[in-house]
Amino acid sequence: MKEKKNLQGLTAEELKKFAADAGEAPFRGRQLFKWINKGEKSFEGMTDFSKELRRKLEDMAYIGGVKILRIQRDPHDGTMKFLFGLEDGNSVEGVFMKYRYGNSFCVSSQAGCRMGCTFCASALKGLARNLTAGEMADQIYEGEKAAGEKVNHIVVMGTGEPFDNYDNLKKFLEILHHPDGKNISYRNMTVSTSGIIPGIRKLAEDFPQVNLAVSLHSLIDRKRSEIMPVNRAYPLEELLEAAREYTQGTGRRITFEYALIKGQNDSVKDVELMKERLAGINCHVNLIPLNRVEETGLWGSGRKRAEEMAKELEAAGIAATVRRELGRNIDGACGQLRLKKETLK
Ligand code: SAH
Repeated sequence: MKEKKNLQGLTAEELKKFAADAGEAPFRGRQLFKWINKGEKSFEGMTDFSKELRRKLEDMAYIGGVKILRIQRDPHDGTMKFLFGLEDGNSVEGVFMKYRYGNSFCVSSQAGCRMGCTFCASALKGLARNLTAGEMADQIYEGEKAAGEKVNHIVVMGTGEPFDNYDNLKKFLEILHHPDGKNISYRNMTVSTSGIIPGIRKLAEDFPQVNLAVSLHSLIDRKRSEIMPVNRAYPLEELLEAAREYTQGTGRRITFEYALIKGQNDSVKDVELMKERLAGINCHVNLIPLNRVEETGLWGSGRKRAEEMAKELEAAGIAATVRRELGRNIDGACGQLRLKKETLK
């Protein structure tokens, strides 16, 4: 028997082709695309298909994706953190967040990560594999069903380095944007990178309207290499140049993420360097109080220091905010739930 084809994560075009190859009219492909990207997982639920067609589809295909293994809900701010299981037994996390402007979903792009940042829980076990476009999209669909609410902002800031999985990321962004799917505006999507310069250039070219966030974490080249090994391949100087180019080419503001690690990147000198090096770049600095990951042995600088630093940057004309700590009570960030998977059962 032929193996069933997984339709989750196929583009509208690919589904049209699938329908045609199955001897059906191309508009069936369009209907499939609509259903799948509404979160429908069974052909039985596709009520505008005849019984015969549903059975035929059942025989030749299925709609894969992710399965919720665990949900943690923060009763104070409504944040829901998901542990999702993949078909091959790997797992990833996703986070549903409520903001004043709407609901946002934080998507993982890889199971694990090979960037090796010293402060990050996702780095501890290395990379298992890339996620498919369907596995990324379905985190959102399953999240929406569980939350009983729609998502209208997407941030690719979960586990993984999105530019280490560019082709699937691209497909995912296109599927989410498609008018027959969730129809999410590119302006409501943000991709966060540890600083892979060729990825920054590709994103600017393919998706000039998608927001870009770059994890900076230090403005001292040697220090940055120490906490983010990716800096050895794409050093700070070149990264800042690529960031400047990005803002000029797209006309968009870039976000710099800066997680505050006690004694490592939070000194007076660090703030001075930020002011100096970021001056003139159309940017916004997002200071992140470090989420403590015990295994790393690192501590955060504390919210008070983060606020002081934000104030100093603002005074120097650099837009800066301190990230809200959503889901603080539920290991709300950065691979911590996946790491604890073994102890959760
Ligand atoms: N690989 C991408 C996206 C995933 S990480 C990137 O590096 O940007 C998303 C953000 O969370 C990054 O800014 C990352 O540096 C930050 N982060 C990772 N571990 C953290 C921790 N323990 N506390 C606070 N922020 C963390």
